[in-house]
Amino acid sequence: MKDQSSNSWEARADAHSFYGFTDLPTIESRGATVLTHGEGPYVFDVHGRKFLDANSGLWNMVAGFDHAGIAQAAKDQYDRFPGYHAFFGRMSDQTVMLSEKLVEVSPFDTGKVFYTNSGSEANDTMVKMLWFLHGSEGNTERRKIITRKNAYHGVTAVSASMTGKPYNAVFGLPLPGFLHLTCPHYWREGRPGETEAQFTVRLAKELEDMILDEGSETIGGFFAEPVLGAGGVIPPPAGYFQAIQPVLQKYDIPLISDEVICGFGRTGYTWGCEAYNFIPDAIISSKNLTAGYFPMGAVILGPELTNRLQAASEAIEEFPHGFTASGHPVGSAIALKAIDVIMNEGLADNVRKLTPYFENHMQRLLEHPNIGEARGKGLMGALEAVQDKSNKMPFASNLSVSERIANTCTDHGLICRPLGQSIVLCPSFVFTENHIDEMFEKLEAALKQVFAEVA
Ligand SMILES: *Cc1c(COP(=O)(O)O)cnc(C)c1O
Repeated sequence: MKDQSSNSWEARADAHSFYGFTDLPTIESRGATVLTHGEGPYVFDVHGRKFLDANSGLWNMVAGFDHAGIAQAAKDQYDRFPGYHAFFGRMSDQTVMLSEKLVEVSPFDTGKVFYTNSGSEANDTMVKMLWFLHGSEGNTERRKIITRKNAYHGVTAVSASMTGKPYNAVFGLPLPGFLHLTCPHYWREGRPGETEAQFTVRLAKELEDMILDEGSETIGGFFAEPVLGAGGVIPPPAGYFQAIQPVLQKYDIPLISDEVICGFGRTGYTWGCEAYNFIPDAIISSKNLTAGYFPMGAVILGPELTNRLQAASEAIEEFPHGFTASGHPVGSAIALKAIDVIMNEGLADNVRKLTPYFENHMQRLLEHPNIGEARGKGLMGALEAVQDKSNKMPFASNLSVSERIANTCTDHGLICRPLGQSIVLCPSFVFTENHIDEMFEKLEAALKQVFAEVA
């Protein structure tokens, strides 16, 4: 039992707060990191220690931790109208404006938006929309959802079923009818002698085989992150979406782009689908949508799904779905400001400007004998540790190499994230070249230290 008499922040955190997605042995030996505030891309803990956050919080705090304009938009809206719902035909003026803005910046000519409080709920909502409209059209069998292994779509029962991670087995998930294709990771999944183009062809064939095996009349939708994020920052192989989309279209299966990470600038484009040149049937957005200053998610439907959902709703005179805080006025005001800040105040430009500099550092670390792959897109990257570069053999998992690297980084004032055998970097859009230098200096020192211990 922990020392309950201790009044330290670490002991107090331990006593009454559950940790999610947290390595408990690390907590056991090091305690929680309890934070008080942030400045630009830095955060500070209760002991006054300063950390450069290489992960933008959880991908989302892209405008830094003290953006005065976004905080002011929140304060102004709290003064004006601090809360309301979006049921019964009522909604705030801010929500109306946000929907206009989201359709305007989307790849769609027209469309409609539905709001949630998180990315998980947005994916859940999209699945319910598909079930509802297919059912209304008489296709009650069209309920199966296809995603990819290693995909991350969230934690609610449905979005966790879409997530292709083994840890969901402890919950008895996935639910029936959630199918997972091969992870589109050429470096890991490509076969000996297979070119990247051949790998793409194989994945498209696997998709078509799955559709035919299951019966195309049973497939409700296909969801994909343009770049897999929490799966380890995995960009698709060349031509992937151009190969996948015609297969889906052949069987009338909607393609949903989960842009929770990629959306609003992360890849150097407004949307990941723009970066990879495809137009999906709908977009799932969250995280950067409010630059992390408010919990909010959105489903943005393109014209065809808008019309079909509209027809299904008219048939029963409503769309029976919504969260109490859907389209929250303060969240909407924050999102409007955050989008403006990202797109018009230089943040997206900064991502494009910094990307080559970031990539050069990544490639430099690839020269290390224990870094097997350096991959990424825009300002997101992963460095995958291997014991043996020649055959890509990972380190034994009980060595906890990536956790040790991340913990060593924390000791040196850098927060970064271990993910499988990789270290994930997704700096905020307020980073400068100096911040990039600081991040890689600290990371490189930690890599050298940990690899010397385990090699
Ligand atoms: C984070 C994430 C989600 C889930 O969002 P929450 O707000 O944590 O529920 C869904 N999809 C992707 C791609 C994500 O990165």
